[in-house]
Amino acid sequence: MTTLTRDHLARLDRDDPLAPYRQQFELEEGLVYLNGNSLGALPGAARRRAAEVVEQEWGRGLIRSWNTHDWISLPERVGDKIARLIGAERGEVVVADSTSVNLFKLAAAALEMRPGRGKIVSEPGNFPTDLYILQGLERFRPGVRLETAPREALETLIDEDTALVVLTHVHYKSGEMFDMAALTARARAVGALMLWDLSHSAGAVPVDLNGAGADFAVGCGYKYLNGGPGAPGFLFVARRHQEAFRQPLSGWFGHANPFAMQDRFEPAAGIRRGLCGTTGVLATSVLEVGVELMVSADMGQIRAKSRRMGEIFIELVESHCGDFGFGLASPRDAERRGSQVSLTHEQGFAIMQALIARNIIGDFRAPDILRFGFTPLYTRYVDLWDTVQALAEVMRREEWKRPEFRKLTAVT
Ligand SMILES: *Cc1c(COP(=O)(O)O)cnc(C)c1O
Repeated sequence: MTTLTRDHLARLDRDDPLAPYRQQFELEEGLVYLNGNSLGALPGAARRRAAEVVEQEWGRGLIRSWNTHDWISLPERVGDKIARLIGAERGEVVVADSTSVNLFKLAAAALEMRPGRGKIVSEPGNFPTDLYILQGLERFRPGVRLETAPREALETLIDEDTALVVLTHVHYKSGEMFDMAALTARARAVGALMLWDLSHSAGAVPVDLNGAGADFAVGCGYKYLNGGPGAPGFLFVARRHQEAFRQPLSGWFGHANPFAMQDRFEPAAGIRRGLCGTTGVLATSVLEVGVELMVSADMGQIRAKSRRMGEIFIELVESHCGDFGFGLASPRDAERRGSQVSLTHEQGFAIMQALIARNIIGDFRAPDILRFGFTPLYTRYVDLWDTVQALAEVMRREEWKRPEFRKLTAVT
């Protein structure tokens, strides 16, 4: 039995150096939000910025704002800020498109940079879009095949015929984290390129792309970066590859001089060649606010709090919900876990619906995973206590059996 109490956790909140950040977010009173790993909360400054961009920059400035408000350099400006969160340099990251589209661009470019090699390596159970995009690319490039192997067998699958390895650093379901440096070294040792998907890492855990020697990366703006629903994603190309890097969606925003209006495509120097079409100005401006907030916080403190939250959550679940058939789907070792804890339960969907009805929001991932994401800028330690108490009540009173909690929704 645990010695943790709600008072104990309230004391941790009082001593938490990150606690003041919570006021920067617009969170309804009484809501426990443990789904910032799927859609980050709304920063108040993002709401104000959205109004300003709509009313002033668009409404009044109109077309002039491309210059007067420097819309044209938004992708690099926000990219440079994200770079600081992922161990990249200025000029190595741009914001554009969705993570899925960025994956396509980078993976296709990588294949061109490793002619004669026939294999893309990933793992089964990777985030669906990663596998789907690679399958699409496979159809496009006869002779190239996607091969997957479970983590333990990945190192042997990566060989001299491998052009590219595509892995998600923190697994979306289990929260298990790869050893980025070790896998990247393995890929590079056989001359393969390494692409990391940082969707569940950027803003959640320390990432050092250049320290690990990574070649490419993509990631998501609407999760831990709090960029808003459908916020654009980002892509990273290591400086040493930028000259050779040519991606197939060579739209005019990736041109050396878009307003020269030439017939022939000529890639921009540097990371801008990763762009395709016109920047989503509203979305990128709002994302910038979330990124700035994240950059202003101390990643060491974020990581320390998130690890501690994971440990506390697991301890609470095991001592208060030990009899209800939950399994732990995340690594117990905080070192190998991202900023979430996932539980398994065969009634997972209905149980999560019952929690959501109690204003405690996590999510469900088929077939049996309940995910609880910790976002140290706004999650409180007492939220963990309240969640586990509610979970215990849902189970004890069998609330999840109610028919309204068993109806499948379009989005889980
Ligand atoms: C959330 C997520 C994505 C999202 O891709 P979109 O193109 O934004 O839909 C991609 N990869 C991983 C690993 C994710 O977790």
